[in-house]
Amino acid sequence: MLTCDQYHMPTTLKEALELWQNAPEGSRLVAGATDILPWAREGRAGDVHLPAMIDLSRVEELNGYRIENCRVRLGANVVYQDFLTDENLREHLPCMPYCSIWFADDQIREQATLAGNVVNASPAADGTPPVIAMNGIIEIARLEQGEVALRSMPVSEFLIGPGKTELQPGEIVTAIAVDSMAGYGGSFQKVGQRRSLVISAVCAVALIKLDEASGAVADIRLALGGIGPVPVRLTDIEEKLKGQNLTPELVAEASIKPAERVASRTRREYRRDVVRGFVQAAIEDALVDCGAPMPGSQEREKVNG
Ligand SMILES: Cc1cc2nc3c(=O)[nH]c(=O)nc-3n(C[C@H](O)[C@H](O)[C@H](O)COP(=O)(O)OP(=O)(O)OC[C@H]3O[C@@H](n4cnc5c(N)ncnc54)[C@H](O)[C@@H]3O)c2cc1C
Repeated sequence: MLTCDQYHMPTTLKEALELWQNAPEGSRLVAGATDILPWAREGRAGDVHLPAMIDLSRVEELNGYRIENCRVRLGANVVYQDFLTDENLREHLPCMPYCSIWFADDQIREQATLAGNVVNASPAADGTPPVIAMNGIIEIARLEQGEVALRSMPVSEFLIGPGKTELQPGEIVTAIAVDSMAGYGGSFQKVGQRRSLVISAVCAVALIKLDEASGAVADIRLALGGIGPVPVRLTDIEEKLKGQNLTPELVAEASIKPAERVASRTRREYRRDVVRGFVQAAIEDALVDCGAPMPGSQEREKVNG
């Protein structure tokens, strides 16, 4: 069982930062608490007692999202279910409904935040490859001489290893800002037998924008998770495919190289096979989502949320 001496529910960022800065050692921040509860149970075979838990779910400044200047700023309390149900988010982040439908189940999606997923820094996290592909920047708050001070950095630099990030003691993540991908087709692939409650061994995300006149690739974003300690953006493959009219042969060829980047210590050959198939399927599904499936590629059903 997970217990604590004090459970705080601050409503402003400053209050949360003050509580966090002064919390006794061993205290924890929680948002949806969907990672904390399994953490407290797994391998500990008994009770876990924390001095204090600071629940961020009511902090006003962490709620909601803003879309401006071709960027989407997602407050740290945005949950996975929002990517399925919110029409604006579906339009501007077209890979996220596909990512979310694979994520856990309805109950967990209502609680689980994207920010918590990123801070948890699991190599198997579903949310980190899409964020990396969309040039994600993480915003972080701390107290400086009693006032709220902010800093930000690319999520690709924030994640430094399994369970390790650049978050410093006393800091709270306030938002994750990503590119607006309106007009792109999106897709997300995840290995697993069932659609829900499967933690990825490997996952892949693709976002593609086609030039209306020529049908060539105007922009493409590709990223993989679960193949090493941190998610990987496939910029070399992106560069190779930009400006090209995609054919099944070109996509199949482009899918071979990413498999070489599998660095996981376990099930490496299996992950390499999965990566080959996933990169190809991710590109094909993103094309279907654009309304431009490749000749010969299988039509895949769209997620309706
Ligand atoms: C049944 C089940 C199924 C799951 N399925 C999936 C899945 O399919 N894919 C997947 O990727 N994950 C899955 N998870 C893991 C989990 O749901 C996600 O990682 C989730 O996004 C974590 O978000 P949260 O808000 O619940 O985080 P919490 O558990 O509240 O926190 C996670 C970590 O982040 C820190 N944190 C949270 N918010 C902040 C903040 N604003 N600033 C600083 N630190 C913060 C916490 O201190 C903690 O260390 C599953 C979990 C369960 C229990």
